[in-house]
Parts: sequence; C-alpha cells; structure tokens
Amino acid sequence: MKKHKVIITANQGQEQRIEVEIIHLNTKARVVKSIQLFLGFLFLAALSILVPVMHFVLVPTLLLLAMILPFLNMKNDKALTAQNISCPKCKAKIHFKTKSFSNEVKNFCVACHTQVKIIFKA
Ligand SMILES: [Zn+2]
Repeated sequence: MKKHKVIITANQGQEQRIEVEIIHLNTKARVVKSIQLFLGFLFLAALSILVPVMHFVLVPTLLLLAMILPFLNMKNDKALTAQNISCPKCKAKIHFKTKSFSNEVKNFCVACHTQVKIIFKA
C-alpha cells in the first residue's frame, strides 16, 4: 500500500502534514460501487412504499438519490484503509474506516468532540 501525504486539520485549526495509506479505486471498482448505491436506494425506495403517509415524501426522495448519488460517487477515486490517525488537537487515536472520497474525508474525534478533516493534495 502506498503512503500519501495529506493535510489533517481540526475545526479549521492549524494544518498538519501526515502520511496515510490511500487506495486508488479504478474505474471498475467505482462503477461497481455506483451500481451498489443505485440498487441500494432503489431497494429502500421500494421498501418505503410500505410506510403509510411518509411514502409520498420518501419514495420520490430515495428515487432521486438513486439517480444522483451513483454519479457523484464516480468522482470518488480514492479510499482510506482502516487506520488510526492521531487527532491534531488532543492526540487521541481516531479510527478512520474505509470510505471512498475525492478530496477530503471528515471524521469526528470522540475524545475532544472536534471535527477532523483529512485533505488530499496530489
Ligand atoms: Zn481529539
């Protein structure tokens, strides 16, 4: 796995340069993920037909998301492996799960309740 330099910040505070392992997702991996997203939302939309009254809102919303999100996901060509990264504020370990992203990943430090952001710079 290749290490990449990224910038980590806590609540727009001071920036810190760290190295994390980043997976590059190829087109096939992204298409598979997008199809999964599409089918997932289609399934949720089908399920929400059963919810009384709320289905007037839920079904169109979920169908719309099923159309839009897979396209947005195609931009996410990177993913993080599960890894522990020190919080820039309190130094507690934050567990970053595998998440696809294009430029930045947000997470939350449970120890000091700070939003931590990892920004990828090519
Ligand atoms: Zn913290």
